[in-house]
Amino acid sequence: MDLTVKPEHEEFRLRLRRWLHENLPAGWGADSLAQFRSYEEEVAFMRDWQGQLYRGGWAGLLWPKEYGGAGATTIEQAILNEEMARAQAPELINKVGVHNVGPTLINYGTEAQKRRFLSKILSAEEIWCQLFSEPGAGSDLAGLRTRAESDGDGYRLTGQKVWTSYAEFSRWAICLARTDASVPKHKGITYFIVDMQAPGIQVRPLRQITGGTEFNEVFLDAVYVPRDFVIGKENEGWGIAMNTLAHERGTGYLFKEQVKHKIAVDRLVEMIRQAKRHGRSVHPALRAEVINAFIRVEIMRLLNYDTMSRMSRGQEPGPDSSLKKEFWNRLSQHLHETALALEGPWSQLMPDDPRAIDSGRWQQTFLYSRSVTISGGSSEIQLNIIAQRLLGLPKE
Ligand SMILES: Cc1cc2nc3c(=O)[nH]c(=O)nc-3n(C[C@H](O)[C@H](O)[C@H](O)COP(=O)(O)OP(=O)(O)OC[C@H]3O[C@@H](n4cnc5c(N)ncnc54)[C@H](O)[C@@H]3O)c2cc1C
Repeated sequence: MDLTVKPEHEEFRLRLRRWLHENLPAGWGADSLAQFRSYEEEVAFMRDWQGQLYRGGWAGLLWPKEYGGAGATTIEQAILNEEMARAQAPELINKVGVHNVGPTLINYGTEAQKRRFLSKILSAEEIWCQLFSEPGAGSDLAGLRTRAESDGDGYRLTGQKVWTSYAEFSRWAICLARTDASVPKHKGITYFIVDMQAPGIQVRPLRQITGGTEFNEVFLDAVYVPRDFVIGKENEGWGIAMNTLAHERGTGYLFKEQVKHKIAVDRLVEMIRQAKRHGRSVHPALRAEVINAFIRVEIMRLLNYDTMSRMSRGQEPGPDSSLKKEFWNRLSQHLHETALALEGPWSQLMPDDPRAIDSGRWQQTFLYSRSVTISGGSSEIQLNIIAQRLLGLPKE
């Protein structure tokens, strides 16, 4: 792949930088989200922000134009991710919609499903969540027990899901349910679109170690889903779900994470310099950890180029996305551990303590980073995929 940045790419970058400068609230920075008094307020702001991005033509760059996308190039998408991270712009609120649901509908949805759902995902008018995991089916997702029984022109879904991010304010969900219990477990699963406002849905938030309630339990009691809301064919949901998860693990968002982590490493370097200016020295072993983090972030950049190259050839993400996710998991946790070690005793201060370094941001991101080796499939599962599908090792 030709990675030369052409004049039109530079023009794209400058146009975006200008747009971000004009549209982000004045003084916006890494700590700005902390200003909101409640989660609801934060969600409302983020929703509005994604709407602004969509109206500005900056959401769904790689999606086809007829469904609200921009039909842009992979390089432009990479530039967008970099610039958003550099400006510390808020994340997309409709992450599941954009990274998981969109590619799935584009690849497997009917024309009517694409027209009905895609542009509202990009504009964040309709937020989505993912009803895959269950109390007894996380790593062993194919063991899911939520069942879908035929009822007239549709199905009735009954069961329990868990760890459902953003369910509280989602309008729609992608959901896996068992339509045939008599066949091997991977073969009896169907992929549904579920209306989160349908009778029979109950959402219960779960409190996390960060203090937030992004997670939820979702109970389904004979929830009606019309046949038109099946993605793909009955009993053929497993293969489609694997494609959804490869998109979640793989690809787009790691560009942005790489730049965010590069900015974080720069900040750690500055902390070492500051310590020196104040007559304190940082232990050489800790200094080496910062350098180690720098090296890993650089390697992540190269891995992202590989992703970009595959995407530009129109290849779907496959087992290579497990390698990239696992590398990033380790990088992210190592970097946050190093940050807290550099802060020393100050890392024990609560984020609202005026003495907390960088407004206590590192403590919060450290806590969140504990989840990266679990979400989107745990590290052990990624290692199994790498072992079997990339290295051809025999199954244990
Ligand atoms: C931040 C976050 C967001 C999430 N959002 C969503 C969401 O929106 N929707 C959704 O459906 N799910 C979501 N999840 C759930 C996530 O997909 C599961 O937590 C994950 O797949 C692991 O499943 P589990 O929690 O049931 O753990 P288990 O599967 O019970 O695993 C427990 C431990 O056993 C290990 N283990 C299990 N099987 C094997 C094996 N075969 N070989 C080696 N080790 C094994 C695991 O690695 C893990 O360490 C989210 C999770 C997190 C942390």
